[in-house]
Amino acid sequence: MKTIGLLGGMSWESTRDYYTAINQGIKARLGGLHSAKILLKSVDFAEIEALQHQGNWAATATILVESARQLEAGGADFLLICTNTMHKVAPEIEAALSIPLLHLADATAQKLVAADVQRVGLLGTAFTMEQNFYKGRLKDRFGLEVLVPSMAERKEIHRVIYEELCLGEIKPESRQVYLDAIHRLAAEGAEAVILGCTEIGLLVNQQDTKVPLFDTTAIHAQAAVEAALK
Ligand code: GLU
Repeated sequence: MKTIGLLGGMSWESTRDYYTAINQGIKARLGGLHSAKILLKSVDFAEIEALQHQGNWAATATILVESARQLEAGGADFLLICTNTMHKVAPEIEAALSIPLLHLADATAQKLVAADVQRVGLLGTAFTMEQNFYKGRLKDRFGLEVLVPSMAERKEIHRVIYEELCLGEIKPESRQVYLDAIHRLAAEGAEAVILGCTEIGLLVNQQDTKVPLFDTTAIHAQAAVEAALK
């Protein structure tokens, strides 16, 4: 079994779900007392969040590159960045490593393509919904058409991520905001919706709606299990 390097803490609320899901996946595949070989580097999210909102992505890259190098030096065979948003600096991280990066957008897009989805809705931080590093990759590499919520919805979805979900606060009224956005995207023609922020699965899951949901935390964790056992 290969050793999985997790670059986490963004936020730790979702990194905990990665740790659980990866171990459950290994147990499901190997049984008994088997568990995943994991190295975790967890950063202080307050530092990252401040730099994100200042637009200082170069400084976030410096922190994450150093952390990723520590994981490689510690013996990780491949790396996961446990957040959609910070894939904004995935190219810098990838360039600094000699181990492979298991890219979250690629793992998600492969599932969408396998499910025959062509037009997909995307929920996430404003950075993920509005900038091109994520949407562009889905479009250019996998031919997916990506729909995002209205500006007012994006603002509220972003606020809920940073002011509630990353602090472990789960509120029914925020769940309704997300479900309304999911249903509006479906009405606009989305065949499925990507939960493109690793904390959204804490708030919304498939039992809440008939619209097919693609939870990036679950998908990324499952991809890690498969890569570790390959
Ligand atoms: N975990 C979130 C994501 O998947 C947001 C936190 C962050 O900005 O990294 O995008």
